[in-house]
Amino acid sequence: MGIVLVTGGSTGIGAAVARMAATRGWDVAINYHSSIEAAEAVAAEVRAAGQRAFMCPGDIATAEGVARIFEALDREAGRIDALVNNAGVVDVATKVTEMTHARLRRMFDINVIGAFLAAKEAVLRMQAQGSGGSIVNISSAAARLGSANLYVDYAASKAAIDILTKGLSDEVAAQGIRVNGIRPGLIETEIHAKGGEPDRAQRLAHVVPMQRTGTADEVAEAVLWLMSDAASYVTGATLDVSGGR
Ligand code: NAP
Repeated sequence: MGIVLVTGGSTGIGAAVARMAATRGWDVAINYHSSIEAAEAVAAEVRAAGQRAFMCPGDIATAEGVARIFEALDREAGRIDALVNNAGVVDVATKVTEMTHARLRRMFDINVIGAFLAAKEAVLRMQAQGSGGSIVNISSAAARLGSANLYVDYAASKAAIDILTKGLSDEVAAQGIRVNGIRPGLIETEIHAKGGEPDRAQRLAHVVPMQRTGTADEVAEAVLWLMSDAASYVTGATLDVSGGR
């Protein structure tokens, strides 16, 4: 245990991870971009659980934003033991033939380059601290499915995350830094409304072998396990939390 930075910790899966981490004895650094009130509510819950909470605002899509996040982390928390690379976006459903450069730029700046730079900054600090660490990258079942006619760009961004997990894990394994991933399936969060389709998860629940959507807490349980010493011999792995889909 120690200090975990959760990117996109203001809502959905990231907020669930932040809350659950506090109940398991972690101090939590919460990154957010626009949802300041939601992030402050999560921080209040972390403190109510008896742990320290640190606010690390910043846009993960820009170099300046990532620098701002880690400056706040260094100033407020002074170290990092785990990173949950969770911040991410979808976009409205469309075909590849309709995708604009601006859409692709935003998708890859947030979901891929942001995750790479956050992992880089976390690893540099973990290496300097010399006591290992754990990174959990939030991918998506879309990385396996391709998401035809919906958002192939999103699926491709998450496939890149799966390879970040594999490649980075090999680079840092000998230093005691474990890097793993989670591929959530259809999870009830606000991400579907932000993609223009609030009932998307419920509508597609029937295609899931378990015949239901998942909860952010069910994803958080898997994240917390990968972060913990209980997963001490697990690295380079990406775990599906998708009801069999
Ligand atoms: P969500 O509720 O919309 O949360 C997204 C989080 O990402 C928010 O905290 C948001 O912060 C943050 N974020 C977005 N853009 C950002 C930026 N530029 N800089 C920093 N933070 C940013 O969605 P969610 O469902 O919990 O998604 C979390 C992760 O799970 C994502 O990576 C998503 O792709 C993945 N996932 C979700 C599902 C699902 O069905 N829900 C399935 C598979 C994978 P602000 O609101 O403060 O901007």
